[in-house]
Amino acid sequence: MREKKLSIVIPLYNEEENVNELYNRLKEVLDALPYDYEIIFVDDGSTDRTVEKLEEIAKKDSKVKVVEFARNFGQTPAMMAGMDIASGDVIITMDGDLQNDPVDIPRLLEKIDEGYDVVSGWRKNRKDATVSRKIPSKIANWLIGKLTGVRIHDYGCSLKAYRSNVIKRIRLYGEMHRFIPAVVSTVTSPDKIIEIPVRHHPRKYGKSKYGISRTFKVIVDLFYVWFVKKYMQKPIHFFGGIGLFLLFVGLTFFLYLLSVKLLGNPIGGRPLLVISVMCIIAGLQMLTTGIISEILMRIYYESQQKKPYVIRRVLNGEEN
Ligand code: UDP
Ligand code: MG
Repeated sequence: MREKKLSIVIPLYNEEENVNELYNRLKEVLDALPYDYEIIFVDDGSTDRTVEKLEEIAKKDSKVKVVEFARNFGQTPAMMAGMDIASGDVIITMDGDLQNDPVDIPRLLEKIDEGYDVVSGWRKNRKDATVSRKIPSKIANWLIGKLTGVRIHDYGCSLKAYRSNVIKRIRLYGEMHRFIPAVVSTVTSPDKIIEIPVRHHPRKYGKSKYGISRTFKVIVDLFYVWFVKKYMQKPIHFFGGIGLFLLFVGLTFFLYLLSVKLLGNPIGGRPLLVISVMCIIAGLQMLTTGIISEILMRIYYESQQKKPYVIRRVLNGEEN
């Protein structure tokens, strides 16, 4: 393998019961590999004893870096923070609740060796609730594939490996860690992205941090990813197209109503029509305003090198 160093990035939010076992299991796998490595635990503002447990580990093991956030920012910023300080040639992300299995790491690395830039885990036997988790995510995966043209089965699996010079070219906001393969496809060819089946276990300790309420946020992010990929270079094509179309529809209605009026018939009294037209226009307005603000936010963060998180302190490493 050409690569010399691995960086394992793990966001943690209230995972006190999982930390030690996770560390031990990871260590077993990583020590058996012929590469240098670092484990970056990102504490996303936990309110339990996660930080204390991480501190104990970091004191004994200098390969363990701990990034402590000033408050809870979310899984995406936590992943981003870990990637930002990662110094490895390959970055591997996974969850901190042992639902992903460290044993799969060498298999991900084999694919990186074969020349892929992104190797994405596919939870073929996903051990989560069917109605509230598996079905919505099936629909989401299908939609994301359709909108972005990067068709993989399991976008939501956190266990993934990336060539670091590729992943470091993209920035993640909101809930975007769920679309990384699609976002990465803006900087590398889709042929360089591969999916392999990985193990998945039920959560043993602690609770899942997500429920169905995230669905709407995810849809908005999805819309954004699709938009950026397709229209970022020429937003005028997108907005202009919609604008012209609406203008055309509006003028057609107007001419029709005008001719009805000129022929001597009354037009009044169509509240439903008015409401539906208003709703459609307001909806489109809001969507487009949303896109503009997303773009502004991106410019805001990137022009000032502002990060979507605030770090309280870093153990065994430096903030950069
Ligand atoms: N997580 C985080 N910040 C959050 C929510 C979750 O860092 O605001 C971490 C969490 O500790 C875990 C991973 O993200 O390591 C995945 O979360 P979870 O297991 O709750 O999601 P699920 O497996 O149910 O999709
Ligand atoms: Mg989990």
